[in-house]
Amino acid sequence: MSKTGKAWVMAGPGQLEMKEFPYPKCEKNGIIIKVEACGICGTDKHMFNGNAGMVDFPIIPGHEFAGTIEEIGEDYKKSMLIVDETLELKVGDRVILGPGTKGCGKCPTCLKYPDKPLLCQNRFRYGHSKVGEAPYFLGGYSQYIYALPDSWIFKVPDGMSPELAAMAEPVCIALRVVERAMEGEAHSLGHGLGIGRTVAVIGAGPIGLLIMAALKHAGAGKIIAIDMLPKKLEMAKEFGADMCIDAKLSVEERQEIIKQSNGGELADIVVEAAGAPIAFKQALDFIRRGGTVIEAGHFTDGGEIPVNPYMICNKDCDIKGVWANHPVMFRDALNFLDRTTVPIEKLATHIFGMNDVPEAMKTAGGPDVGKVIIKPWE
Ligand SMILES: [Zn+2]
Ligand SMILES: [Zn+2]
Repeated sequence: MSKTGKAWVMAGPGQLEMKEFPYPKCEKNGIIIKVEACGICGTDKHMFNGNAGMVDFPIIPGHEFAGTIEEIGEDYKKSMLIVDETLELKVGDRVILGPGTKGCGKCPTCLKYPDKPLLCQNRFRYGHSKVGEAPYFLGGYSQYIYALPDSWIFKVPDGMSPELAAMAEPVCIALRVVERAMEGEAHSLGHGLGIGRTVAVIGAGPIGLLIMAALKHAGAGKIIAIDMLPKKLEMAKEFGADMCIDAKLSVEERQEIIKQSNGGELADIVVEAAGAPIAFKQALDFIRRGGTVIEAGHFTDGGEIPVNPYMICNKDCDIKGVWANHPVMFRDALNFLDRTTVPIEKLATHIFGMNDVPEAMKTAGGPDVGKVIIKPWE
């Protein structure tokens, strides 16, 4: 019997079905990876719930995966995007891929903003592309991934667990938050993020927690976690938060606590990572004059909220969005995961085997749930 592999196919919102596909032929310019772990992203859950906008169903979801090279085409060095020029890859090496192939280089977005290839509409994205023809395995809820030419490939540091390596993609978002908070004005004048600055993070879900860990690594001073759930705040302490504030307190009460902890001033930086429109409004409430607000919670459209523009003028604050990190950041994410003293592996609170993917999908995003990981060979 010829070799096959299992994968979960999402045919539409609410529909998940396990299918068996023929094991693909490894072309000279491709790599076949045996998937060891794949994270369930908030975006996957939104697709499953039918509120992720246009999706080209049927798809094999999953773009947060780590695995081992099963087969490698002889021309991989020419076909793949490898930022470490000393890297030699072979069967058995542990790797991760960027979430998609490189930008097309020709569309208006690529031409105008070459530093943001993730905004290119023409690139291939793992876990978002229509399934149906060989090589089939193009999403991480699978036993294999077929790495197409022009994929970003990175070697996982020795000793790092697949669960941890699979978190490199959400870590990239956290690192981008830090970069956005740092960029721009002269740090010496007290603008933006710098060593010792006070940062409030609204929302202690997986992304918020990773942001706290990255801020700590980057030398933030006081990190203040704001969330409604005591369990999440407890976790925030392990992820670098110096103090926690119950989001059920009134805005005024929370402002008072922040001021008391920051020499009478509101926060230097506020990161919105709750993904609720009201949290963005509150980010403006919690920022000091001259501070920076980073909006990192709304990867799907959560609706609108009225804000008072006077506050933005009066506070002379910067407001920055986070969407498109550069795939080269995966190198930095692995480096961070390897070196941070924060126990990031604790974020993987729920691990499911291949047969339990629908259960895993149901679990993801729950109140006491961190990151949900699928292990396709268990
Ligand atoms: Zn993701
Ligand atoms: Zn393009």
